[in-house]
Order: sequence, then structure tokens, then C-alpha cells
Amino acid sequence: MSGQTFHKILCGKCAGKIEFPAEYAGQTIPCPHCQTAVLLKLPPADPPEAKYDYPDPASLTPEDVAKGNKAKWSIIYTVAVLVGINLVMGILFLLRSKPDGPLTDVTVTAWKMEPGEYRTYYVTGTVSNSTSKAVAKARIEFETLDNKGTPAGKVSAIVSNLAANSTAEFSLQTSPTQTVWDAKVLGVFIDKN
Ligand SMILES: [Zn+2]
Repeated sequence: MSGQTFHKILCGKCAGKIEFPAEYAGQTIPCPHCQTAVLLKLPPADPPEAKYDYPDPASLTPEDVAKGNKAKWSIIYTVAVLVGINLVMGILFLLRSKPDGPLTDVTVTAWKMEPGEYRTYYVTGTVSNSTSKAVAKARIEFETLDNKGTPAGKVSAIVSNLAANSTAEFSLQTSPTQTVWDAKVLGVFIDKN
């Protein structure tokens, strides 16, 4: 019998001890105590002991310590840079995704629409800048409407160098292919083109 490895398990039903040679592992036998079928399982191997190579602090030279500190600081620096980049990207994304709404203090103060030649219309009016800042390029946007009041298209006029606290005139002509029954002001926008 020497040289043979034996394993001990407990019967799952009666908790009786069952001893078996290693080569019987995997077989199912009736429990010698209660006759319940028992799978002869090898006990789980002990997990390998975690082994870390810590240097003996006594053997560390000042150069080793400096190297370690340098590595630590370079990790902190890298993390800080990555966090910073993400912050900047996030702010840029928020600024970018903010829709360009119509200006609130630069508005169309009066306008009229008159028929022009061959299915076109002239829209003329005044735009007022009540802010203390000049607007380099203001885009006055109108929406044309069909006979049911449904939006049919957009038309716009550009006014350049609209001075602070000033009023300027604008005019535009609709296209002959555009359905124009009526029009409404969409607003004045900063034109970036
Ligand atoms: Zn049993």
C-alpha cells in the first residue's frame, strides 16, 4: 500500500468518512455508510501562496528610494494630466453642444414683405442692437410659411458691423422656387461664417 496517496472526503448525505486511493478520483461509488451514490472528488489543491518580491528595506540605497519616488510622482503626474485633459474636453464639448439661440438684445424692430418680380418677395426692416457691444455679423433669419401656415423654408439677411446701441436696415429677397404665403421672424443670430 505504500506509495499510494489516499484522500478523505465526507459523504454529502450522512457525513460519514470515505477514504479512497487517488486513482479512484472521479468515480462514483455507493457510500459505505448509507449507500448513497458519492462522487469521489479530490479535495481542492491549496492555492499557491502569493509571493511578492519586496526588497529588504535595509538593502535599499538612497538611489533606489529616489527612483521609487520618481516613479510614484510620474504616475501621479500622468493621472493628473489625464484628468485635466478630460475636464477640458468635457468643457469644450459642453460649449460646442450648446445650441446657438437667437440673440435677446439684438432684435428685428420692424419689417414688411412686398411682392417682387416673378414669384419673389422682398422683406425689408430694421434690426436694433441694444447692447454695449458691436455685432460683427448679424444674421436676421425668417421662416417662410405656406398658405396653411406650415414652415416652407428659411431666408436670411446679413448685417455687418452693427454698432453698439444702434439700429440698421436690412433687406432680403426670397427665391422664386420658395413657397411664400407669409413669413415670421426666427430671430437675429451671430453669424460665424
Ligand atoms: Zn453516506
